[in-house]
Amino acid sequence: MKIGAIQKTSLIEFPGSICCIVFTQGCNFRCSYCHNPELVLPEKFGNIYSEQEFFFFLEKRKKYLESVCIPGGEPTIKYDIIAFIEKIKELGFKVKIDTNGSNPEIIEKILKENLIDYISMDLKGPLEKYKIITGVEIDTKKILKSVELIKNSDIEYEFRTTVVKKQISFDDFEKIGRIIEGSKMYYLQKFIPSKLVNENFMKETTYSDEEFDVIKEIMKKYVLECKVR
Ligand code: SF4
Repeated sequence: MKIGAIQKTSLIEFPGSICCIVFTQGCNFRCSYCHNPELVLPEKFGNIYSEQEFFFFLEKRKKYLESVCIPGGEPTIKYDIIAFIEKIKELGFKVKIDTNGSNPEIIEKILKENLIDYISMDLKGPLEKYKIITGVEIDTKKILKSVELIKNSDIEYEFRTTVVKKQISFDDFEKIGRIIEGSKMYYLQKFIPSKLVNENFMKETTYSDEEFDVIKEIMKKYVLECKVR
């Protein structure tokens, strides 16, 4: 497993659980707003931690941690992700993964084998905008398949969208709502310009608080709970 970074503790990344975060290196998407260029763009890749280093750290912190979160890059594109999660579970930790939903085959396997306790999936926008938002060609049927797998799973989950005003209109949220209709939890994530995959996006903005209230009302027609963060 190529590990790009480790955050020793987080009280917020896994709802209700004290976790560490292990960031996998590499992603098959190129979202302009992504704030992890060092995990996405090979020319910006930094140091790699070995699995051995990670598990040494995990054993040492066993008393203080309950869970491990695995965001990306994109963890499901890693050939050894399943073996990696199995090892973490064997140590008694709960596991959360974050995914862009492009790899339903792996998501299905992980869910079937009860390897994770929480999954968070990005909905980048309405399907017809996936190419422009992610910067790559995507088989959007795979996105839909991942949504269905997650919605029908019996673990905790959330869908979420990073909101860049020029990329997603109010109408687009109606379309996103129809994709995830019946879901339990949906987060709207305010775009915050910081270090980005596409530096031209530094000038982009997100919606105002009042506009987010309108979007929340739209989404509440489709999901049980919608929050802004
Ligand atoms: S936001 Fe997620 S899916 Fe998009 S490039 Fe960054 S890590 Fe990949």
